[in-house]
Amino acid sequence: MIADKLQVPFLSLKNVTELHGDEIREAARRVIDSGWYLQGAENAAFEKTYSQYIGVKHTIGVANGLDALIWILRAYIEMDIIQCGDEVIVPANTYIASILAITENKLIPVFVEPSIGTYNIDDTKIESAITKKTKAVMIVHLYGRCSYNEKIAALCKQYNLKLIEDNAQSHGCLYKNQKTGALGDAAGHSFYPGKNLGALGDGGAVTTNDDKLERTVRSLANYGSSKKYIFDYTGRNSRLDEIQAAILGVKLKYLDSDNNKRKNIAQKYCQDINNPAIILPEFPKQDENVFHIFPVRTKQRDRLQSFLGEHGIETQIHYPVPPHKQKCYSEYAYLSLPVTEQIHHEELSLPISPALTDTQIDYVIDTINKYTDS
Ligand SMILES: *Cc1c(COP(=O)(O)O)cnc(C)c1O
Repeated sequence: MIADKLQVPFLSLKNVTELHGDEIREAARRVIDSGWYLQGAENAAFEKTYSQYIGVKHTIGVANGLDALIWILRAYIEMDIIQCGDEVIVPANTYIASILAITENKLIPVFVEPSIGTYNIDDTKIESAITKKTKAVMIVHLYGRCSYNEKIAALCKQYNLKLIEDNAQSHGCLYKNQKTGALGDAAGHSFYPGKNLGALGDGGAVTTNDDKLERTVRSLANYGSSKKYIFDYTGRNSRLDEIQAAILGVKLKYLDSDNNKRKNIAQKYCQDINNPAIILPEFPKQDENVFHIFPVRTKQRDRLQSFLGEHGIETQIHYPVPPHKQKCYSEYAYLSLPVTEQIHHEELSLPISPALTDTQIDYVIDTINKYTDS
C-alpha cells in the first residue's frame, strides 16, 4: 500500500519566506523601530548593493515592476528620445505588464513572435518589424531565461533604438559574465513576492548606467520632484517602502543560492522526466536561465493539469491568454501570431521553488512520467 499522496503546492510563499525567516523578521523590526518608513537609509543601502550585484551604476527603487517599465519609457519621453505615438518592439508572449508599460505611455506595441525553442523573442523577426517610428526594443527574459544576444544589441545600435530589458522574471541570470539588467540601456525589475527576488509586498526597481535617465526616473517616481515642493514633471507616487528595501537586502544575499536550487530542480526535471507526451524546456547553458518558471508543453494541457491536480500537484499556466487576445487590447485581436498562440495553448508550469523538498521533486517526476495523453 502506497502512503498518502503528497501535496505539492505550486509555490508556498510561507515556506520560501521561512528559508530566511529570522533574518527577514529582524530586518523588518529594524525598520519598524527606526521610525523612518520611506526614502531613507534602507532604500539607499539596497540600491547600492543591488547596483553592485547587477553591475550597473544606478538602481532606483520604485513601487512595483510595472511602474519600473512605465518610468523607463516615460523618462525617455521626457528626455525627448521617444515621442508619443512611437513604436516599441516587444515579444508577443509576455506578461501583460510589458505591454501595459508601452500603452500607458501612449506608445505603440509592435508584437514580435517568440522562438518555440526559447519562448523568448525570435531575433530573426526583429529587423522586419522596425519602421521609422520604432524607438525601442523591449526584451523580456521570460520564465527566467536570458533573451539578450549580440545580434539584438547590434540591431539596436544599427537602428539607434533603446534596448530595454524586462527583468521581472530573471534576477541573477547571467549572459556570459554580465547579469541581465545590465545588458541594455535600462531594465525594469519586479520584486513581487513570487519572483526570484521577492519582497513581502509590492516592489520594483530600474537599473541603468545612464545618469540622466536615473535622475529622471527618480524624480518621476517621486511626484516629478527632486527638490521638496518643486515639481519638474507630472509624476506619481511610486516609491519602494523602507521595510521592503530592508527585506530585499536580506533576500538578495541568498539570491544566488536560491537560484542554484531552482537550477538543480530544473536539471533533475530535465534528466528524469521521460514522457513522450511532454516537451521539456531546453537547458542549454547553466548560467543563462534562473528558472523563475519551469514550463513544459503538451498537446492536451488541461488534461495534464487535471491529472497532476488529482495527484496533489498544483500547476499554473503562464499564460492562458496572450496580450493580443485580451479584451483590453481588442484592437490587436486581428493579429496572427501562431507561435505565441501555440505556447499559450500548450504551456504548463511545474512547481519549482527553493523551498521544494527532494521528496516533492521526485514525486512530481514519478507522477508526470505516469501521465498518458490518450
Ligand atoms: C511580474 C512581471 C511584471 C510586473 O511586475 P509587478 O511587480 O507585478 O508590477 C512585468 N513583466 C513581467 C514579465 C512580469 O513577470
